[in-house]
Amino acid sequence: MFPVDRLPIVGGVVTIEGDRIVDVGKPAANATVTDLGSVALLPGLVNAHTHLEFSHLRKPLGRAGMLLVDWIRLVIAERGRGEVVTVDAVAKGLRESMAHGVTTIGDIATTVAGAGTTEPDCVSFFEVIGFSRARAESATAALIEKLDDRRNAGRRIGISPHAPYTVSPDLLRKLVAESRMRNFPVAMHLAESRDELELLASRTGPFQELLDERSMWDASVISPGTRPLIYLQELAKAPRSLVVHGNYLDNDELTFIAENREHVSLVYCPRTHAYFQHAPYPLEEMLARGVQVALGTDSRASNPDLSLLAEMRFVARTHPAISPHDVLRMGTLAGAEALGLSNEAGSLSPGKLANIIAVPLTDSASDSPDSLLSSLLASDSPAIRIWYRGRNLNVV
Ligand SMILES: [Zn+2]
Repeated sequence: MFPVDRLPIVGGVVTIEGDRIVDVGKPAANATVTDLGSVALLPGLVNAHTHLEFSHLRKPLGRAGMLLVDWIRLVIAERGRGEVVTVDAVAKGLRESMAHGVTTIGDIATTVAGAGTTEPDCVSFFEVIGFSRARAESATAALIEKLDDRRNAGRRIGISPHAPYTVSPDLLRKLVAESRMRNFPVAMHLAESRDELELLASRTGPFQELLDERSMWDASVISPGTRPLIYLQELAKAPRSLVVHGNYLDNDELTFIAENREHVSLVYCPRTHAYFQHAPYPLEEMLARGVQVALGTDSRASNPDLSLLAEMRFVARTHPAISPHDVLRMGTLAGAEALGLSNEAGSLSPGKLANIIAVPLTDSASDSPDSLLSSLLASDSPAIRIWYRGRNLNVV
């Protein structure tokens, strides 16, 4: 058993009552225990960043290594297909996530309409786009209308200013002010590509051309010499924020995120990062500086599936210097903390929701927790049993 917030327990037992974990450790003397065989018990996984509305896609849009800006053109075309397709895709994405043992999700949403299912647990960040000065007021008003929509009752809500190339600093300030009023988390794509840095630094390059092409360009929005840091400083004023990607942040920016780790997290989307063939991700450096790093799949528009376990395995393979326990933490507790749900999810801990997965251990000869976890991350076995809020879903 790998509880994440305490040491692994060989032969561990987790006791569930209703939807909660009540005890973690060795079984009580008279308890009835189900023996699951040679498996690792892990907390339900946390996908801190995805866009479920693209879950109907059978394969990523475009081709590996393409420019992000050209991929965004494909996304824009894909989006023009109406609400019914979107709602179905979200429902499909939720089902797929659950089947992969993902029990908590941070989703970027564009529609208020529900997916007809409420599980697994999901924070829906409503996306906002508005680059020109003229758009800031109307984009904020449209968001407020969505946030106040009665169909959101009982839903966990956040706000997502899309990215620096679609949201002006002025609009970002308005959205962060709104997040403070409502105590909502904020998620923003930041420093994803070098082209984005060029737009901020000199108001030129492929993103300037895209904005121009879509009649969204307004040269007065960005001051020359702008760095992602000014967006980070604004995001840090939100009750909680998720900085998505951060592929090209400099040392001052990483230090700033680390200093604000209690309420600012970075979300690394490993296979999406690889799809666009970005510069190597400085994950070791980030962790060494104390940055809180969670993991996300991003959407099926840039990733083959919504398996967070596959992301963790990709990280273990491509960043071998990082300990398997740190990889596990990024895929569970760090994600729950990023989403503000660590009192409910992210570890096997009494009082939390009974979200638990069992993954077969391939190397049952060893009883060193570290080597068991390494071989689990090196294998490709799926989660064979999943409990969501105490309910056994019997996947296999
Ligand atoms: Zn994204």
